[in-house]
Amino acid sequence: MSEPIFPKLALIGIGLIGGSIALGARKWGLAGHVAVSTRTEKTLARGRELGIGDSWHLDPNDAVRDADCVILSIPVGSSGEVTEAIAKSLKPGAIISDVGSVKSSVVKMMQPHVPAGVHLVPGHPVAGTEFSGPDAAFAEVYQNRWCILTPPEGTDSQAVEKMIAFWRGLGANVDTMTPRHHDLVLAITSHVPHLIAYNIVGTAAHLEEVTESEVMKFSAGGFRDFTRIASSDPTMWRDIFLYNRDAVLEMLGRFTEDLTALQRLVRFGEGDQLFDYFTRTRAIRRGIIEAGQETPLPDFGRRVVEEKKS
Ligand code: NAP
Repeated sequence: MSEPIFPKLALIGIGLIGGSIALGARKWGLAGHVAVSTRTEKTLARGRELGIGDSWHLDPNDAVRDADCVILSIPVGSSGEVTEAIAKSLKPGAIISDVGSVKSSVVKMMQPHVPAGVHLVPGHPVAGTEFSGPDAAFAEVYQNRWCILTPPEGTDSQAVEKMIAFWRGLGANVDTMTPRHHDLVLAITSHVPHLIAYNIVGTAAHLEEVTESEVMKFSAGGFRDFTRIASSDPTMWRDIFLYNRDAVLEMLGRFTEDLTALQRLVRFGEGDQLFDYFTRTRAIRRGIIEAGQETPLPDFGRRVVEEKKS
């Protein structure tokens, strides 16, 4: 086996995302030693039982000491305080990274605490499921998914190359861009769709004319797929909307205008225009399948994910 990219890797947070990184790093020999830390004893004990990591620490400073790379896999809103708490224990020359779904705010929160000589290379794996916690982690989650790195201008190029190699080692494709561009792209591809899902499921729950049992019984008509998205972790999604507010509001503005236009087409019975619109959106789905980012299976590949986990 070739040399690991990082002799010692430290993961702060071992839920779905951090736990999967730890499992993948060991499975594919990307780190000599994986030290893990998490906020609660309960999650730490569960991580140990599941074989997530090689050493387990309640104090994150113990995990990051001598680490060549430290990855925060915690809710976005905690990035600043955790970076501040571990700053004194970071090894000169080490890389500090994260996996947060929002980048501009995270860079703003982390950067002031990163000591000179430590390289900040923020990242976001565009991968995951609606489940959370260490039990949801599996090494293959990043296979053929994209990981976006947003290194601040002037970041050491060797540090960036190492993070690129690390994510490729986990099976991901890697792209780099500015934090602002990342936030705009993810606002339309992920954050606004989640808000729409939360909204539609919430609306169904408030309807007086339709009973809850009818909503459940007839959910296959499209609603079911929104409920999967709307069951995502409330802490994570609260933080995403708090910390990517500007980009989300910008995209939501565009969305609302387009929705009003569609509403008019429905109101005035503009069948041809609706047909053209739906034909264009169908092509987008075909493009996503051709890019290998979705499966044409009617269950959206959920069974494949479950089989990989078991
Ligand atoms: P998760 O499964 O809920 O795990 C969160 C981890 O963070 C747990 O180990 C938890 O520890 C720890 N944690 C929570 N609050 C903390 C705090 N205040 N200080 C220190 N540690 C804390 O979450 P996840 O899905 O892995 O998400 C983690 C990050 O990945 C988020 O920033 C999210 O934006 C990003 N992300 C998620 C997905 C996704 O699909 N889920 C995809 C891409 C990126 P305890 O259990 O011990 O409290």
